[in-house]
Amino acid sequence: MIIRNETKGSKPKGGVMKITFAGCGDAFGSGGRFNTCFHVRCQSSCFLIDCGASSMIALKAQQLDPNEIETILITHFHGDHFGGLPYFMLDAQFFSKRRAPLQVLGPPGLKERFADVMETAFPGSSKTAPKFELTFEELVPGTSRVVGDKEITTAQVRHGPPEGPFHAYRIGVDDKVLAYTGDTEWVDELIEIGHNADLLIAEAYFYDKKVPLHLDLQTLEGKLHLIHPKRLILTHMNDDMLSRLTELSHECAYDGLQVLI
Ligand SMILES: [Zn+2]
Ligand SMILES: [Zn+2]
Repeated sequence: MIIRNETKGSKPKGGVMKITFAGCGDAFGSGGRFNTCFHVRCQSSCFLIDCGASSMIALKAQQLDPNEIETILITHFHGDHFGGLPYFMLDAQFFSKRRAPLQVLGPPGLKERFADVMETAFPGSSKTAPKFELTFEELVPGTSRVVGDKEITTAQVRHGPPEGPFHAYRIGVDDKVLAYTGDTEWVDELIEIGHNADLLIAEAYFYDKKVPLHLDLQTLEGKLHLIHPKRLILTHMNDDMLSRLTELSHECAYDGLQVLI
């Protein structure tokens, strides 16, 4: 018999958003952490930010019900942020018996990339129509879009070719703001994305090593006075960062961390 942990998926009490870090690892399993997947429960909605290759395992490890998730918001098409969608979809179709609509939001090219990743993981699967309504919407950097109870502001960040698509998001629900850098080197767009946010989740892949296309903590620290988040949680850390966890003066994510804002 499966005993569900009622507190994990339940509505936030005393807050607007309950964020569960189902996975906060990088692409390479550093620290034995699952790929990026943040589960956000609001009073009237439930959504994921990113769905990396290991995210179905991560969601089940946290006893989070995939059928509750109404929206999946994707930052970019790397496997550790996007590669879990085929497993989520097949679970929805054959095991969780999903009937409720599912909306996938992400960068331009989302629908084609989705078909590609489905075919790669399970050949023929993209030809099978789901038994639930599945919709896609491509978000345009530099714009804001109201989706249900969320206002989602999108920015282009730099994690590959300058034209992207790689997104950071600022998500407002009621009077609370959750911001996420996605994977990126420093770009000034992050100031607006994270400004005064109730929670900024920021990549800190390296401690002080400057590497194109990723953020290091030293660079981030030098910009924090401009972003001024009310709370900062570091994520997507490499082995070097993980070895320094006890000496860092910032809050750091771990798989299973729950935060209320
Ligand atoms: Zn990544
Ligand atoms: Zn990436």
